[in-house]
Amino acid sequence: MAFEKFNQEPRKDFPPRKMFKGDWKCADCGKEITELPFEPSPDRPIYCRECWSKRRTQRFER
Ligand SMILES: [Zn+2]
Repeated sequence: MAFEKFNQEPRKDFPPRKMFKGDWKCADCGKEITELPFEPSPDRPIYCRECWSKRRTQRFER
């Protein structure tokens, strides 16, 4: 039961960390992205925050 309590701790989605600045486009909606909370890999599609969370939610639902 103690384990469950740990999981319920509020987590911050985007802690004040170093942001990576650049000039990308969302692979899903085509929106311009100027900064990312993580380092983007050139061989992977980049998504804006909205599409990112959308995809995450979709995965969780399945
Ligand atoms: Zn998008």
